[in-house]
Amino acid sequence: MRRRPGSLLAAYVAAAALAAILLALVWTLTPWQPLPDATIEPAPVQRYFTPEQVARSEAFHDAIKWPSWLALAVGIAVPVVIGFTPLGRRLAAAVRGRANRWPVQVTAITTIVLVAQSLATLPLRAWGHAVSTSYGLSTQSWAGWLADAGKSLAVAVVLTALALVLLVGFARRFPATWFAPAGLAAAGLVVVSSFAYPVVFEPLFSRFTPLHERNSALQTRLLALAARDHVEVTEVLVADASRRTTAVNAYVSGFGASKRIVVYDTLLASAAADEVALVVAHELGHAAEDDVLVGTLQGAVGAAFGATGLFLLLRRPAVRRLAGTDDAGNPAVVPVVLALVTVGSFLSLPLQNTVSRHVEARADVHALDLTRDLPTFIAAQQRLSVTNLTHLEPNDVLAFWFTTHPAPLDRIGLAEQWQRRYDGPP
Ligand SMILES: [Zn+2]
Repeated sequence: MRRRPGSLLAAYVAAAALAAILLALVWTLTPWQPLPDATIEPAPVQRYFTPEQVARSEAFHDAIKWPSWLALAVGIAVPVVIGFTPLGRRLAAAVRGRANRWPVQVTAITTIVLVAQSLATLPLRAWGHAVSTSYGLSTQSWAGWLADAGKSLAVAVVLTALALVLLVGFARRFPATWFAPAGLAAAGLVVVSSFAYPVVFEPLFSRFTPLHERNSALQTRLLALAARDHVEVTEVLVADASRRTTAVNAYVSGFGASKRIVVYDTLLASAAADEVALVVAHELGHAAEDDVLVGTLQGAVGAAFGATGLFLLLRRPAVRRLAGTDDAGNPAVVPVVLALVTVGSFLSLPLQNTVSRHVEARADVHALDLTRDLPTFIAAQQRLSVTNLTHLEPNDVLAFWFTTHPAPLDRIGLAEQWQRRYDGPP
């Protein structure tokens, strides 16, 4: 296929510009110092957790680490082995022999790779579920657990197949410049799915009821807290998390018209009203700073960068040999693309999670500023950590790569620092 050399240069310029925009957004919008000019020291573990609580957390993480690590490794290995060996080419040829139309071929190849990945990790994830159940963290039956796994797979297949049909379609229509429409489409898909997430995907897994139907006094108190915080909230929703877990949690999802604050029914059942208010004050911090919208926009730029990166990578001779084609409009590129996206997503985790941990710390400071209630903040951290069996003393490198929230002792250390700053010594 003949390509104008200018389009390759344009793709390099676009990739560099998108990377620069992403880094600039991350650099300027991440709250690197949630508590200005403070050095945060983790709180001493023995001050806030009993030796039994520490031992139980360690024992749980010792037990869960093997199924978790193996599921992660196998989940990466399956698309990588299929995409980076002749297996992918054979799979594409076999599908082409059975289906004529390219969108069907793309969808079929995507589905086969994702189903293979899901089946290969299923025993490991089941092992993890068994460990969680034995520690009383998971309360879900095997049937319910399998149904959730099936629904997660279905969502992944639908979204991934849609993205790949768009990519291959653009590559067929615009062979020399498909990075531009594919980048725009990838960004658009991130924005639309993040917006639609609370209304389309979350109801597949949980049922939501308005808080006022369960506890109108608490709802009134939380809405007053939001009003004092100048955050517009008309409703707090309760998720029926107790169907699957004893873990306590709350979160904000969506943005604009789909924005909502959700608390787990497990939190309502176990925590005092002060603690629920503290947790909601943290979520109000996310709402006040538009963390979901900002994260979505950063994700959209990241996705556009990823699409442009794919365009450039698919032109490398080594990658073209793996796909057996130099034409991204050929469904045979799908296994290679899935392998590259899997590796790229894994490599982008430290960046995403570093940003997330700082955003979470800012929401903690927000909760403290709003409630000015250090004892309840600490009580809530203790409850979250003990109930959810959070790793109290995680490995630094693993925490850097994988954790979305600061470790419990870092969160309490930040709160102690906040107290010293604003109220004198505790
Ligand atoms: Zn948060």
